[in-house]
Amino acid sequence: MNYAFQVKKLTTLISFYTTNSRAYVMEFLEDPTSEYKQSAYKLFHEIFKHKQPAELHQNNPVDDIFKSVSDSLDLNDQTEMHLIDVTKQWWNEWYFVLTMEYSLSCDKVDAPYSFLSKKMHHPMKRHEMSHYAHLFTILPMPISNVCAKTGDIIRVNQRFIDVFGYTVDDLPNLEHWWINAYPDPHYRESVKKTWQSALEVGNDTGQDIPAHDYHVTCKDGNTITMEVSGINLGDEYIAVFNDATKRLEDQNILRDMAFLDSLTQIANRRRFDEKLNKEFEKAVECGDDLAIILIDIDHFKQFNDRYGHVEGDACLYNVAQAIACTVSRTEDFVARYGGEEFVVLLPQTDKQGALFIAEHIQKAIEELRIPHEDSFTGYLTLSMGINAVGKEDNCDQKEFIKAADSALYYSKRQGRNCLALS
Ligand code: GH3
Ligand code: MG
Ligand code: MG
Repeated sequence: MNYAFQVKKLTTLISFYTTNSRAYVMEFLEDPTSEYKQSAYKLFHEIFKHKQPAELHQNNPVDDIFKSVSDSLDLNDQTEMHLIDVTKQWWNEWYFVLTMEYSLSCDKVDAPYSFLSKKMHHPMKRHEMSHYAHLFTILPMPISNVCAKTGDIIRVNQRFIDVFGYTVDDLPNLEHWWINAYPDPHYRESVKKTWQSALEVGNDTGQDIPAHDYHVTCKDGNTITMEVSGINLGDEYIAVFNDATKRLEDQNILRDMAFLDSLTQIANRRRFDEKLNKEFEKAVECGDDLAIILIDIDHFKQFNDRYGHVEGDACLYNVAQAIACTVSRTEDFVARYGGEEFVVLLPQTDKQGALFIAEHIQKAIEELRIPHEDSFTGYLTLSMGINAVGKEDNCDQKEFIKAADSALYYSKRQGRNCLALS
C-alpha cells in the first residue's frame, strides 16, 4: 500500500514541532498526553482504523513509513532525528496493541464473552454489551441466566424479582431454586425430571429448550403457573418465564363452554353423559348408592304457545337455576337433559334421599310462582321420576336411566305436578 499522503502529513507534523527548541521538544516528549502525541496518534488511527485483522498480521508497515519520513527530511538535525525515533517507537507500540487485541479476542477459551459472536469481542463492541445488559434487565417477562455446567444462577432480571420475589442472593444456584420454587418434594422431583428432559431436547437439537407449565412458589408463598422455556447459549442458558394463568383460565372457560348449556347456564347433556359414566362406575365399584331424578316441565308447549318463546327461554333459565340452587352438595350434579327436561344425579343417595330432594325442587318451583294459565294450579309445575341403585341392585346404566324415565312417565299419567319412584 502506498502511504505517500500519510508520510507527507507525518513529515509536516514532525517539521512543524521541530521548529521549537530542543528543550521544548524534550519536554513535550515526556508528557504522555501532549498535543504532539495526540496528533501522532490521530495520524496512526487514520491509517490503521479500517485495517482488517488479516492485514494487521502481514508485515508491519511502520518501518517503511518512517523510512520514507526520514528520507524526505534533512536528518542533520538531532532534534528531528530524536522526534522521529520516539514517534516511530510509539507507532510500533500502538501497532503491537492493535494486533494483540485482535489475537486475544480470537482466543475463545479465555475470552470472557465466549457466548457472544466474534464480532462482539472488539472493545468498542463490548461497549454495546451494556445495551444488552440493559435490555436483559428491562425485558417485561422474568428471565434468569444460568450456567449449564455448575447450575449457578448468574443473573436474574428485575421482572423476575418483581414476580417471584427472589433475588440472586436468595438463589445463588439451581439447587436453591428447586427447593424454594417447588417446596413439595414429590412435585419438585417431577419438575426436575421435566426440566432435565427439556434441557436434553435443547442440547440434542441445538435449539431452544421446549416450554412446559410449572407451578412456581413465590417468596411470599403464593403459587403461579408459569410456562418456562429456555434459550440455549452453549455453556449457559436463559430461562424465560411466561405467566400461564391467563391461558389456563381461557382453556377452562373454553372447556366450561363445551360442557355448559348456554341458555340455562348449567351443565349440558354431554357433560351429564360423562358424569353419569364416571359416577355409575364408581358406585358399582364401591358398592355405593346412586340416585337420579328426571324432571320435565308440565305443559311447556302450551306455555310457549301462550307466552312466546322468549318468555319460554327465560322460564327455562329460572327453573334450571332454582333446581341448581336446591341441590347444594358439591358431589351432586344438575344438568339440562333435553328441551324442557332436567336431570339431577345424587351420589351416595338412596331413593328416600332422592325423594326428599325432589320434594325440595318441587317446592322451589312452586315458590317461583311462574304463571301458567294452562296448568291446573295456574302456575308452572314439574313432573319427576326417581330411581336409585345400591350395592344389592344389579342393573346397568341404561336400565338405571330407563327406570327413572318410566317413573317420570308414570308421574305424567298421574296428572302432572307429581313425583314417582321407580
Ligand atoms: P308434558 O306436560 O307432557 O311434558 O307436555 P309438554 O308440552 O311440556 O311436552 P312436549 O314434549 O309436548 O313439549 C315440550 C316443549 O318444550 C316443546 C318446545 O317448544 C319446548 N322447548 C324445548 N326446548 C325449548 C327451548 O329451548 N326454549 C323454549 N322456549 N322452549 C323449548
Ligand atoms: Mg318433555
Ligand atoms: Mg314437558
